[in-house]
Amino acid sequence: MTHFLNEKRTPLFRQSLHQQAPELVELERLIVTHPSRLEYRVIETVEYNEQAFPIYAIDLGQHQPGKPALLICGGVHGIERIGVQVVIAQLKVWLERLKWERSLQQCFNEINVTVLPVINPVGLFLNRRSNGRGVDLMRNAPIDSQQGSFLVSGQRFSPRLPWYRGKEDRLELENLSLEKEIKRLSSLSPLLISIDCHSGFGMRDRLWFPYAYRRRPMRDIAPVVALKLLWENSYPNHQYIFEPQSNHYLTHGDLWDYFYKCFGRKDCTFLPLTLEMGSWNWVRKRPLQLFRVGGLFNPLVPHRQQRALRRHLPLMDFLRHAVHSYQQWLPNDQEKQHLTQVAQSLWYRMQE
Ligand SMILES: [Zn+2]
Repeated sequence: MTHFLNEKRTPLFRQSLHQQAPELVELERLIVTHPSRLEYRVIETVEYNEQAFPIYAIDLGQHQPGKPALLICGGVHGIERIGVQVVIAQLKVWLERLKWERSLQQCFNEINVTVLPVINPVGLFLNRRSNGRGVDLMRNAPIDSQQGSFLVSGQRFSPRLPWYRGKEDRLELENLSLEKEIKRLSSLSPLLISIDCHSGFGMRDRLWFPYAYRRRPMRDIAPVVALKLLWENSYPNHQYIFEPQSNHYLTHGDLWDYFYKCFGRKDCTFLPLTLEMGSWNWVRKRPLQLFRVGGLFNPLVPHRQQRALRRHLPLMDFLRHAVHSYQQWLPNDQEKQHLTQVAQSLWYRMQE
């Protein structure tokens, strides 16, 4: 385990990692037990309190140019631990199935899959939303909304207040490492679908796509509509609300807005999705958990946690298949015109 910096960890730090970031420890265990089925990289090491916290990237399949790509992210907001747990649960399922399932082995040979289960390891360790420097990574990108509500949409007053955006001119280390991964995958691939797993106070599970900074549609909205229709036709009884994030609220500095603008190109269709798991079902049946740290963002009870962990497996597998078979559903120019109109009537009619 030399690579894991584990040898450099003091016994005390190891112990506190076990207590405060068990997900990170579980991920490291997973890496060690599946050496032949995954490649891992430490893409960044974040320092906090003189301790080093690694950001891991897990690659499945042999990454080669020309293949479509899937990027799965978790733990941007440290307190939303269920997002990390969902990503690790998915990783475990695939690693087990890769032992015997030929169609899965074949699929991973034909697509590039990268998983970043814990983008903000210090936030996870501290059980808080921001990173170690008090910056909300999801408000940190250099992109401003014309509207947006006070504070919650992002602020530059102080890291002591929530939703702090950080310094104007720079992305935080965690975000820089994420940016490099997206740059790498989008330069290799004709299609990149990403899904970033979060949780928040809501009645329903939501699938968001850009933009968060404005209410008008993305530059190339048609592939999003095509993916939505594909999902809904394939899984007609699904429980997600598929919508632009701006339908919910406007924010400054949204990472996926920014990455979409940077890396969505003619030769790489980029579809960034955010899964926002609604916590109301967990809280409703257990209102007292509101008073516990993280109670708003995590199930806290084993059977509800299990339900959350299995609930999103079909979606993740669907995305894998959608990436694998992208040539079957990605719209051509003519279909795009029609789908753009569909997008207008689905989500943007109010602005006309
Ligand atoms: Zn979040």
